[in-house]
This record gives sequence, structure tokens and C-alpha cells, in this order.
Amino acid sequence: MDELTGMFAEYKEDASIIAGGSDLLPDLRARLIDPDYVIDAKGIDEMSELSYDEEEGLTIGATVPLKELAESDIVKERFKPLWSSVNQLADPVIRNRATLTGNVCTSSPAGDSPPSLLVLDAEINAVSQSGERKIPIRDFFTGVKRNSLGADELVKSIHIPTPPDSAEGDYLKWTRTRGEDLSLVGVAALATDPKSGSLRIALSSIAPTPMYVPEAEGILKEEKTLNEKIGRAVQVVREKISPITDVRCSEDYRFYMAGVLTKRLLEKILEEK
Ligand SMILES: Cc1cc2nc3c(=O)[nH]c(=O)nc-3n(C[C@H](O)[C@H](O)[C@H](O)COP(=O)(O)OP(=O)(O)OC[C@H]3O[C@@H](n4cnc5c(N)ncnc54)[C@H](O)[C@@H]3O)c2cc1C
Repeated sequence: MDELTGMFAEYKEDASIIAGGSDLLPDLRARLIDPDYVIDAKGIDEMSELSYDEEEGLTIGATVPLKELAESDIVKERFKPLWSSVNQLADPVIRNRATLTGNVCTSSPAGDSPPSLLVLDAEINAVSQSGERKIPIRDFFTGVKRNSLGADELVKSIHIPTPPDSAEGDYLKWTRTRGEDLSLVGVAALATDPKSGSLRIALSSIAPTPMYVPEAEGILKEEKTLNEKIGRAVQVVREKISPITDVRCSEDYRFYMAGVLTKRLLEKILEEK
């Protein structure tokens, strides 16, 4: 780890770190980036561990492949939004190599894991020669494919606290085709308690960055029927997002589907609980 942080201290933006390479290699081939050094972090023990403890939560080393998360019973049972998003990310071949950290560090507005990490209150453990720094995921994304890592910093792991036993959550992704495609819209939600807990909602592909919707947090506590609460959440989401038209679909379609997906997801996690 010291050698790795030392290289980043010396080369800074002249170096790129490679995890699974499923974003980095296409960018290199397309000459979108041209680093002098590509540094492989796989094989560093501190970065390759996946560990869970009820008290401590889930720690996902930066080089843990998505396959391990997709096949983990703990992730499925206790961190459902993450499990769902990872299982809808790319395909099994990509998931054998690609990592959660790579998905987060690419910081695409269309990434599948960021909405789930936002509702699960994840923390990025960044490291440099000056030491370690914890970055709340809600402060991590700063623009299209931009994040708050310094030029000499890299991600060591991602940490997620264990949600309460009463929590219910999931992630829904809307794509053009069944199978491998980036999201037209993605929505993650987690209710700390489906009856009157805090409601966390986050979306992808609807703004320059993955977006958390703090205005939804108090909705389940309001004196309303479940249908009215879900309707209010859809309204809050639509007020907040600023989708664009691109090669995948129009602004209007994204705006409409963000509401539809939010409604479907909340009906799924809140009804009959
Ligand atoms: C065919 C195909 C389909 C895809 N489908 C999807 C999809 O459905 N949904 C989706 O969200 N994405 C998709 N992707 C994008 C990609 O697979 C994911 O973003 C993946 O999680 C990237 O992980 P990686 O380990 O391969 O990252 P890499 O390519 O190794 O790295 C990605 C970026 O993160 C940086 N990085 C890696 N590790 C660190 C670290 N420890 N510290 C700091 N920076 C680091 C790299 O320098 C690079 O800038 C797809 C890609 C392909 C090729």
C-alpha cells in the first residue's frame, strides 16, 4: 500500500489505477485518456477484502470483483439495493472482473451502483501518503465523471453501515433492451422502517451526477395514506431532477420514467409491510 500511495504521490494525474479495466481500457483505446503510467492495484491485501460484521457493517475492498457482491447472501439480505444494482450492472463476464470502486470512481451519471450507495449511506475510504480520509458518498460526486478524490488519492475500500433490521429497499433500472445496457433511468430506495421511518431515494441518469433526494426523507412520517405518500415522493423526485436528451432517450421520457420507476419501487418495498 505504501508503494502504491508513493507512486500516486510522485505521478499524480500522470498515473491511472486499473481495477477491472472495463471503463479504463475502452477510454485508453479511444484515446480519451493518455496516462504515462497504468498502475494495477490487484493483489494488495488491504484492498482485496470483503468483510461483514453486524456492528461494523460491510467493507468492500477496492479490488473486490462485482461477482463476489452479486453472489453474496449477506449483501442480498442486508444490503438489497446494492445487491440488485450489482446484479443489473453489465453482464456476468464483466462482473467477473469489474469492481464497485471502478464504477464509483468512473462517476458516470448513468452508473448503476451510485444510487444504491447513496441510499445506503456509504463512505469512501480514500488513501494517500498523507493518510486516510473518509468521504461520505453524498459528497463524492462533483460533476459528469468527476469526483472529490485528490490527484494523489486512491480508494482503498467502500464502507456501508448495516441498515436497521426493519429496513426495506431495492433498485430498479430502466433500459432500452433486456440484458446489457446503461440505464435510461435508475432508482434506488431504502425505508429505514416502511411504516414511519426515513425514506431515502436516489437516482441515476437524470442529472450531471447521481442524485440523492433529501426532500423525500420525511414523507413516511406524514399523516397520509400510503398511496398519497407514494404520490408525494413521485412529485418530489420530479421537482428535483434535470434530465437531458441523449443517444439513449429524450429528456421527456426520462422525466416521465423517473416518476413511474419511483412509484413502482415504492409500491414494491412499502406495500403490505
Ligand atoms: C460492455 C460493458 C457494459 C457495461 N455495462 C454497465 C452497466 O450496465 N452499468 C454500469 O454502471 N456500468 C457499466 N459498464 C461500465 C463498467 O463496467 C463499470 O463502471 C465497472 O464497475 C468499472 O469497474 P472496473 O473495475 O472495471 O473499473 P476500471 O475500468 O478498472 O476503472 C474505472 C475508473 O476508476 C478508477 N479506479 C479504479 N480503481 C480505483 C481506485 N482504487 N482508486 C481510485 N480510482 C480507481 C480508474 O483509474 C478508472 O478511472 C459497462 C462496461 C462495459 C465495457
